[in-house]
Amino acid sequence: MRPCVPEASSLATAVRTKSNAQASCPACYLAATAESLEVFHGISLYGCTSCDLHFWHPVGKPDAAWYEMAYQGRDHRPMPLEPGHRFFLADPLAPKCGRLLDIGCGVGNFLAAARDIGFETTGVEFDRAAVSFAQQHYGLQRVFAMRPEIFRAMEPGAQFDVVTFFEVLEHQDEPTRFLNTAKELLAPNGFVALSVPNRDRWQKGVEPLDYPPNHLTRWSPAALRNFLESNGFEILSLRQESLNVRRAAQVLSAGLRTGLVSRVAGERPPTLTDLAEMSSDEMQDAMKRLSERRGHRVAAWLAHSKSLAMIPSAALLLPYLRWQGETGLYLYCLARRKQHVSSPARWH
Ligand SMILES: [Zn+2]
Repeated sequence: MRPCVPEASSLATAVRTKSNAQASCPACYLAATAESLEVFHGISLYGCTSCDLHFWHPVGKPDAAWYEMAYQGRDHRPMPLEPGHRFFLADPLAPKCGRLLDIGCGVGNFLAAARDIGFETTGVEFDRAAVSFAQQHYGLQRVFAMRPEIFRAMEPGAQFDVVTFFEVLEHQDEPTRFLNTAKELLAPNGFVALSVPNRDRWQKGVEPLDYPPNHLTRWSPAALRNFLESNGFEILSLRQESLNVRRAAQVLSAGLRTGLVSRVAGERPPTLTDLAEMSSDEMQDAMKRLSERRGHRVAAWLAHSKSLAMIPSAALLLPYLRWQGETGLYLYCLARRKQHVSSPARWH
């Protein structure tokens, strides 16, 4: 029987890994000089002393099948717009029309909203079920189930006025390579807009989604600014989501562990880390068992109720937390590609 807790190092060998050579920052390529900040299943988290990015090493991005399995709860129903989507749509510095490509477009909720205000929209997404939903539910024609680099090869001349990638960058093992692909699809002087989880947010304890193989990097405002500026972009907006009552209640609820939810759930549900170690068939079996277990549905309801119960306390605490400078979950950024400036001619 498979152990509930993965063996040390097993995650590192389960996903596509890079060599165990010395860790170097995947954004600025400086070798890690300090001790690791944290170790998780044999993978270390390092903080770059040059660009401020936190990154896991050695680890690689899981394949499309893992994303389809891990995110299957979000690929067959309309989803509300995320904070990053809303910030972009309301950003006075962002364009309001033109050709827009959304990388990791999910079920197409943001693409539909962008189309409705005047953008000519295209999306790419790993998850085939999400792509199918985007086409059928929102009537989006140009949504493709493929990686962005495959899309670029398929439409070599395609150029977009805006390339967006909301909650995508933190999943990349090679963020610079990913940004280069986005740049190749971007018109001269074009915009990128994105959001990532804010590493400096208010939180208590461990957030399981923030670990490999789900998130491979952790971004601060400084890390994001350094990354985009060093890759030829000018930052137009950089916004930390403010802490709201709902998020504060979730954090308080997570910090208040009673054990009741786990007892009701019975067998521990597989984490995203567990899923990374399973074969495709094992993943399907595990998720099917989970969906059939009444205990897990009750546990999910209990967890939700517990968070709701924390709202009065969160509302009381919120002014103090904001005064302390505590922020919400997301970091949003709008940046514009700088025009290439050639070196001035020299007299000889
Ligand atoms: Zn760096």
